[in-house]
Amino acid sequence: MTSDDKHYVGRFAPSPTGALHAGSLVAALASWLDARAQGGRWLVRIEDLDTPRNVAGAAELILVQLDRCGLRADEAPVRQSTRTSLYEAALDRLLVADLAYPCGCSRRDLELAAAPADGGRHRHDERVYPGTCRDGLKGRPARSMRLRTDRPPRGGVDDTGSVIAWTDRRLGAMRQDVAHEVGDFVLRRADDMWAYQLAVVVDDAAQGVSDVVRGEDLAGNTARQILLQRCLDLPTPRYLHTPLVLSASGDKLSKQTGAAPLALADPLEALRAAGAVLGIEARGTTLADWLKSAVADWRRRWPPG
Ligand code: GLU
Repeated sequence: MTSDDKHYVGRFAPSPTGALHAGSLVAALASWLDARAQGGRWLVRIEDLDTPRNVAGAAELILVQLDRCGLRADEAPVRQSTRTSLYEAALDRLLVADLAYPCGCSRRDLELAAAPADGGRHRHDERVYPGTCRDGLKGRPARSMRLRTDRPPRGGVDDTGSVIAWTDRRLGAMRQDVAHEVGDFVLRRADDMWAYQLAVVVDDAAQGVSDVVRGEDLAGNTARQILLQRCLDLPTPRYLHTPLVLSASGDKLSKQTGAAPLALADPLEALRAAGAVLGIEARGTTLADWLKSAVADWRRRWPPG
């Protein structure tokens, strides 16, 4: 991906699990500012694949909240639930290339498979998959689909095997050995839902996204996503992970930890608070003036990567 401003496409990709809150506004604002600072386009994608977690009306509310904050997308928002044929095609491609395989392991099988290498520090879904079904299902029915991380295509400057090295515009040099630290991760879940990793990679490429600007809590997914991009022969965007808003107890502020929905009464105040998290120095007593000043300040702080 070049840093040619003409091709800049950024996006904000909220999951409709609740209203926008102080934490998610930071990611929305940062991705909007980066796109505007670089004269690019800004898209909104509703990531509604995890249907049990979707909350009715949340997507509409998020769009209204963004609009009230003056953050308007350059195209009609897309919903991942309408794009499943793209994910299906990507999975087929990986299967044909022998880079994906069906897995018959149940949750219980995974628990029994091996004591986690780190003595149990990881949650169940973060344990390294031991590769049980790589060589076939041995008569068991297929449940999920996984990516083979032990034979990744070569690529990148100093990558060896599944070690992915990348540079985050804010966090700097990053590195992860996906095969050893994550293992063969899920592309389609046992409940038939498309996994976030596959959907986000397919959509970022299909929408021509050149720059991913999102919360730092998602930084740990980036190596998996870059590996998938290589397996699918897709370009790798630039990445910038923003600081998180922490709750009083020091946890990441999120819908799950009960973050209050953003009040619509004073969008400028909400933007100022989000801007402060990002270190933005902006002036203006109207929304339009403040946003204009914030774009100028962002351009100074975050020149194109
Ligand atoms: N849908 C994800 C979330 O709300 C964000 C995905 C992304 O920006 O890559 O946490």
